[in-house]
Amino acid sequence: MINVTKPFLPPIEEYEKYLAGIWGRVWLTNNGPLVNELETGLKEFLKVDNFLFLTNGTIAIQIAIKALRLQGEIITTPFSYVATTSSLVWEGCTPVFADIDPQTLNIDPAKIEAAITDKTSAILATHVYGNPCDIDAIAAIAQKHNLKVIYDGAHCFGSKYKGKSVFSYGDVTTASFHSTKLFHTVEGGGVFASDPELLQTMDFMRNFGHNGPETFEEAGINGKNSEFHAAMGVVNLKWADRILASRKMQSERYDMKLSGLNVSRIKYNPDEFNYSYYPIIFETESQLLRSIELLNINRVYPRRYFYPGLNSLKYVNNVEMPVSDSISKRVICLPLYYGLTNEEIDFVSGILLKARNS
Ligand SMILES: *Cc1c(COP(=O)(O)O)cnc(C)c1O
Repeated sequence: MINVTKPFLPPIEEYEKYLAGIWGRVWLTNNGPLVNELETGLKEFLKVDNFLFLTNGTIAIQIAIKALRLQGEIITTPFSYVATTSSLVWEGCTPVFADIDPQTLNIDPAKIEAAITDKTSAILATHVYGNPCDIDAIAAIAQKHNLKVIYDGAHCFGSKYKGKSVFSYGDVTTASFHSTKLFHTVEGGGVFASDPELLQTMDFMRNFGHNGPETFEEAGINGKNSEFHAAMGVVNLKWADRILASRKMQSERYDMKLSGLNVSRIKYNPDEFNYSYYPIIFETESQLLRSIELLNINRVYPRRYFYPGLNSLKYVNNVEMPVSDSISKRVICLPLYYGLTNEEIDFVSGILLKARNS
């Protein structure tokens, strides 16, 4: 069986080494030494100044919304994972969708501008599949209309924009370190922000608002993460370069094997992309369905990622988003994970080529 993804696990001894330390200190959570080690390690690896490790990538978005004191309408993408939209509804904001660019599948800056009203407070955009949004254009719009910008960077570990980590842009960029992501801590996530005051606010918020044992600075939540999760991150970080390099090679092999297939690919910068996912876009939904059927018969399970579009959720205003609606019916992500072999890539590719001719 070949699934769309398979969580990375390091050799068990590498993780076990950290357990002895946890047992020795009996410090299991609450900003422990391994949480600090992971935060420092990530900042060094990504060359960013500020980062807070959190429970998961969804709480990260919610804390960002809270810390930026956002209200009213937030312009967002219909083409993302449900957590992008559900988080802002959960925080009492109204999602206003702006359609995506057909080449990158990221939110289209021209559509953002058209969606702005006097109730708009921010833009929440996803760097889809780890491929950066048009950050410069979004920053210019935000500045012109005095809006905050949050990036959902759940897919972005290792991606760059203009030579710098993509996490370093926007008022806040969030990350997810869920098991299925390129870099993971089993469950986990975090926020990147360059404004030290904003970072301080989010630091209070992740720990019930505590500022010392008896002072509460803010209404907070429990968004902190444990030593056990941090240990997984510290170990996996040592593997991050290898994981990134193998994703790139695997993607290039798919490119070669699938060159005869009539599908389109997203536009990305090969020097700055993290190759987090391998999406292909069919010409029609029936071609997609036929391909999935043949893959499943051969026990290969790609994923319709993202389908359906978030503008079709029950709890939002269901507006049509022609580009996103069309793409989400025609796109799948092929299996891509550390350890996927060339033979497996060739097998998956062979089935897709067969499906084309059937
Ligand atoms: C995975 C993911 C999230 C949620 O992250 P969790 O850590 O699972 O809470 C949010 N947005 C996108 C785009 C994701 O892929």
